[in-house]
Amino acid sequence: MPLARSILHVDMDAFYASVEQRDHPELRGKPVVVGGTSNRGVVAAASYEARTFGIRSAMPIAEALRRCPDLLRVKPRMSHYKSVSRQIFAIFREFTPTVEGLSLDEAFLDVTASTTLFGQPEKIAGDIKQRILDETRLTSSVGVATNKLVAKIGARQTGWIDHCPARALRDSTRSATCVCHPGNRSGNSKATVGGRHQDRS
Ligand SMILES: [Mg+2]
Repeated sequence: MPLARSILHVDMDAFYASVEQRDHPELRGKPVVVGGTSNRGVVAAASYEARTFGIRSAMPIAEALRRCPDLLRVKPRMSHYKSVSRQIFAIFREFTPTVEGLSLDEAFLDVTASTTLFGQPEKIAGDIKQRILDETRLTSSVGVATNKLVAKIGARQTGWIDHCPARALRDSTRSATCVCHPGNRSGNSKATVGGRHQDRS
């Protein structure tokens, strides 16, 4: 019987908006969107504060402003986000050569062969989150499972998930089978099992 694979799904939290809030302290704690500076554009990314107004990626900026008149808009700096992304992917490749990028801020990592060097997959997940935080001051969410589907579905279902056993698949997406740890920037220690996941792009 082949050994079970260990797959990590890493997704940066509100990536573009978090980079802007990191780089511009005056934006921290405020509803911010990246994009939509032309009044006819769409939201490219929304900060957590903006999301509390129901603002999401791809929403027309007019709708976003209707929901939150005090919304702060920031012009996208794609080359800068790409540069931060390269930093993050370099960290991934320190743990495994098998990195499948899905976007600038999201990737699958196959760490099956990495455990003898770096420890159990859950430890690798925690170490990667910490390295990203230390080196970029940005937070991420990491799902761990034996295949990509569960790693991603489980993480999306519960948010802030670090470990989702394969049996979660049998239980469809019932998040009660997942072991969750906080990964949000507030440091809230409550697990979010069963909670509705918000868009963390
Ligand atoms: Mg993301």
